[in-house]
Parts: sequence; C-alpha cells; structure tokens
Amino acid sequence: MPAQRNITVIGGGVTGLATAYALLRDGHQVTLVERHDDVGVEASFANGGQLSYRYVHPLADAGVPRDALAWLLRAGSPISLRLRADPHQWRWMLSFLCACNATTNAKNSAILLQLALRSQAGLTQWRTDGLKDFLWRQPGKLVVYRNAAKFRKAARNVSNPELEQVLSPHECARVEPAFAALAPDLAGGIFSPADEVADCHLFCLSLRDAMAAMPAFRQVRGIASLSAATNGRCDVLVDGRPHDTDLVVLAAGEGSRRLARPLGFDLPLYGLKGYSLTVNSRAGTLPDVSVTDYDNRVVYARLGDALRIAAMVDIGARDASVDPRRIARLRALAAQTLPQAGPYETARPWAGLRPATPTGVPIIAGTRYQNLLFNVGQGALGFTLSVGSALRICDLVRGDNAQGAA
Ligand SMILES: Cc1cc2nc3c(=O)[nH]c(=O)nc-3n(C[C@H](O)[C@H](O)[C@H](O)COP(=O)(O)OP(=O)(O)OC[C@H]3O[C@@H](n4cnc5c(N)ncnc54)[C@H](O)[C@@H]3O)c2cc1C
Repeated sequence: MPAQRNITVIGGGVTGLATAYALLRDGHQVTLVERHDDVGVEASFANGGQLSYRYVHPLADAGVPRDALAWLLRAGSPISLRLRADPHQWRWMLSFLCACNATTNAKNSAILLQLALRSQAGLTQWRTDGLKDFLWRQPGKLVVYRNAAKFRKAARNVSNPELEQVLSPHECARVEPAFAALAPDLAGGIFSPADEVADCHLFCLSLRDAMAAMPAFRQVRGIASLSAATNGRCDVLVDGRPHDTDLVVLAAGEGSRRLARPLGFDLPLYGLKGYSLTVNSRAGTLPDVSVTDYDNRVVYARLGDALRIAAMVDIGARDASVDPRRIARLRALAAQTLPQAGPYETARPWAGLRPATPTGVPIIAGTRYQNLLFNVGQGALGFTLSVGSALRICDLVRGDNAQGAA
C-alpha cells in the first residue's frame, strides 16, 4: 500500500471518476471537484457505449486526409469542418495530418491497445468487487465494412485471430442477424468477441455511489482553477478560494486546456463534436452484438432495452449544442441501416465534445509542477480507456514515472 496522500481530482466525467475511485482503492484521501451538480453530464453522458478494447486504432491514419477531403465535399458526411480564425485549431489539424501515416498509426495503436487491455482487466476487477450495475454486457463487437479495400486493410491488421476474427458478409449476418439485410452491401467484418458495452453515464453514477460510501472521499461542487506557485508547485482554487491538497490530477475533459493554460501548458486538446440517439426500440428488434458501420462511422450498441446510436465528427464546433441537421442525418442513416429497431422519430438526441489529441493517445503524465498530473485527451475512446488511464495515474502517484513529465 503506497503512502496515503490527500489528492484532488478535477473533473467528474468518466476519466476523473475512474481516477478518483482507483486512487481511493489505493488508500488515498480523495476530493473530486466538479462544476455541475452531478457527475457524468458532459462528454460522458450519452456516448456510444462501446468498450472497444481490441479495436483502438486512432482516427489519424494513412489515407484519412484523402477520405476526409471526399467527406467534406459530401453533404451529410460523417465529418464536417468549420474553419475558424483560431491558431489552436490550425495547429491541432496540422499535428493530426502529421500523424496520418501507417507507421505512427501502428505505434499509437499499440500504445492504446496496451492501455485498453489494462482497462478491461481493471474494470473486470471493479465489477467483481461490487460496482452497481451499469448495463454492462460482453456481446463482442463487429466492425462491418462496405468498401473492399478498407476491409482488406483492416483484415491485414489483424494480428491475433483469437482476439479478432475476419468474417465474410455471410458470417457477419450469422454473428449479428439484426444486420442480415445489410449483408449484400458488405465486403466483410472484423469481430472482437471479448469486447463489451455499457452505459457510460450509469457507470459514472455507479462510481459516484461507490465512492460516496467511502469515508476517504469528498465531492465538492465548484469551478476549479490552477495557478503557478513559487515553489515548483501549482495552487488549486475552487470558486476562487484556495484549496489545500498534496497532489492534483487534472481530468477535466475538453475543459482541461483552459485550466492548464495559466501554468504555461498549451495542451494539444480539441473538442471533436459527436452525436448520439437513444431509441426505445420495439421488443425483439435490437442487435445483441455491438456494431460499427465503418464506412458511415456509425456505432450501434444495445444498452438494456434501448439502442444507442452514435456518430460524426464535427471539427470547429464551439459548444456541445445539438445541430438538428446532423441529428436528422443520423436518424435517417439508422433508419436505413436498422429499420426494424425504430421508432426513430422519438429517439433522444445528444451531442458531446470528445477531448481529443491529434494522435489519439491520451496525456497521462506527471508535469514540471511537483504536485500536478494530467489525465486528459482520451478522445473517442474515453469510456474504454477510463480504468486503464486511472490505474496509470495510480502508478505515477506511487512513483513509477516511466513515461516522463509534460
Ligand atoms: C458521440 C460520442 C460517442 C462516443 N462513443 C464512445 C464509445 O462508444 N466508447 C468510448 O470509449 N468512448 C466514446 N466516446 C468518448 C467518451 O465519451 C469521452 O472520451 C469521455 O466521456 C471523456 O470523459 P472525460 O471525463 O475526459 O470528459 P467529460 O466527461 O467531459 O468530463 C469532464 C468534466 O470536467 C468538468 N470540468 C471541466 N472544467 C472544470 C472546472 N474548471 N472545474 C470543475 N469541473 C470542471 C466538466 O463539468 C465535466 O464533468 C464518445 C464521445 C462522443 C461525443
């Protein structure tokens, strides 16, 4: 058991909550600072629900700039770009383009895979130890491809056939009969039988409830800020008032960049907006397996009696407001792909900002401030990577600083 510290975690999304819980389990006193009345109400609220432990390839890959260009010229495409007079946006996009090559993608996929597998093992332990149900299931994940070249490329990347199986269109339909009508349009699919699904918001509530029962935990509602002190440390303020702590972990999602700026950090984080729909479907119409429609970049996951459909990357969105045109497009795509699982007219829309780094690799590191650590930038995989990222923070607090300081 490491020496007990008094640690403050800023941010009550899935990353901050998992971090706080992991630190409590490691024997520390933990204060969670969250600006909203409750937890998990920003990017962690209604995401795709996929715990995608095997399929972790970052968005930045060879061929993506060409595909993105084609998408940007097509109405209703999965990616939209609004250019802003914002140097941060331009720098982020330039770094993203630099990461769009096979070598960088392979290197970053390997880093993410390691973190994801640690996440899966950690979550298994936490569930076994008695977290309240959060609609967790392990139905496996099927990524279906309509484009033959993209499917061949994905099939070539499969290195362990026990973890990922390459399927023909006919086999895809057998694995998930709800998508059988799509089989004639498919080139094939990759099935990861050990992947999981769950409701991220319920997971946040389950962590909140587990921690509320632990005497070493305290939750504070307030707006945190950081400023440099003179002794190689940073000061934490909550609602402008000094907050005493041994260590602080910044896990404030997309808001982390603003928080870190007064300390001289320009974190390469950008909020990539995405959308979801939650449908209370007709009984017996829901897919069991979670499915990613790769070419449309849409994910489908059954969460209890509901179907969660998530998609789209809007670059240059200023906030997480729901754009009715994007939601109408998502509704139409879902109705085309899985018509029986409606009614889509009554589906609940949502939008959130993925806190994304250009490479897709999160920043989980100590910093030049002795008392500050970052746990930010999980992007499109924040739910999947939450537990592994939290356990990595525990390593750093214990003094295993192998990955260096930011
Ligand atoms: C459409 C969509 C689909 C997705 N699908 C999946 C999926 O299927 N699988 C997956 O793994 N991931 C998915 N993601 C990604 C995942 O949802 C995010 O990566 C994750 O929720 C980020 O969690 P977070 O805790 O870092 O950020 P958040 O959930 O945004 O939490 C940050 C918290 O910090 C708080 N905060 C910010 N500033 C301050 C401050 N100054 N003081 C106090 N509190 C502050 C905020 O209020 C917020 O509660 C999806 C995302 C989107 C948008």
